[in-house]
Amino acid sequence: MFFRFWGVRGSIPVPGKETIKYGGNTTCIEVRGNNNEMIILDAGTGIYQLGQHLMTRDQTDINIFISHTHWDHIQGLPMFQPNFLSNFNINIFGAIDLESGLGIKERLTKQMDRHFFPIQLEDLSAKINFIDIEEGSEIEIGSLKISSFQFNHPIINLGYRVEDANNSLVFTGDHEWMCNDLTEDDGAWEERQREVDFRRAETFNFMRQSDILIIDTAYTDEEYKTKKGWGHGTFDSSIAAGLEANCKQIYFTHHEPRRTDKALETAFRHALKKNKIPENQTRFYLAQEGYEVDIR
Ligand SMILES: [Zn+2]
Ligand SMILES: [Zn+2]
Repeated sequence: MFFRFWGVRGSIPVPGKETIKYGGNTTCIEVRGNNNEMIILDAGTGIYQLGQHLMTRDQTDINIFISHTHWDHIQGLPMFQPNFLSNFNINIFGAIDLESGLGIKERLTKQMDRHFFPIQLEDLSAKINFIDIEEGSEIEIGSLKISSFQFNHPIINLGYRVEDANNSLVFTGDHEWMCNDLTEDDGAWEERQREVDFRRAETFNFMRQSDILIIDTAYTDEEYKTKKGWGHGTFDSSIAAGLEANCKQIYFTHHEPRRTDKALETAFRHALKKNKIPENQTRFYLAQEGYEVDIR
């Protein structure tokens, strides 16, 4: 298995000299299997450069898995070059929104509305299929098996586990660890706590012993105090998750847009020191645009 980060920023693209090292584009990850089959995790602005890169490759079967439809995970899709070429087959997988009942096609069509983009979905030349999936769905693409899990976020957000014969990679999409906001004297506290404990255990199980864990790590603990319920993780929660789930390599992503390269490294160093990481196989990294890893 091979993967490459094409976008690692959360919320909004922030190009500029202060983010040049880790990158300013929003979420997009390319994963390739041993037979060169390719999937793309999320279509933030990073997918634009990936689309340009595909013009130089002999690869016309594309599978895109969308975690959720917040802007920073879909904004690059209308400008993805393969959309405009008739020799490309593009499958786009994503969740049905349980509240509205809207499928992935209906929701993505909204961002192609003529008020927001000059070319409509039906005018694109590529063969584009939309596939609605649910939590627990398993899809095989060549040697890759992709399963999904609903990570806690203000709207439905599927994270994906990609496996081949030898390796596994988990991507959370956006994720805030569920917690019980009720007080113990509230009659509903116990039931809520059971639900929280169950979902947290299920979340760890989905990540369990993955070779690669790419995890939403938007905030420092200090920042999180005023951002509870916004749907994102922290350095501390991501370190705890990586250790609890016994993952080998953990990549922190969804970098907060105001965090410069220097500030990102400072926050990262501080969190590792504070959490006293034990000497074992687990390694932590900051996801970096353009960084690629071959884990075969
Ligand atoms: Zn996001
Ligand atoms: Zn989001």
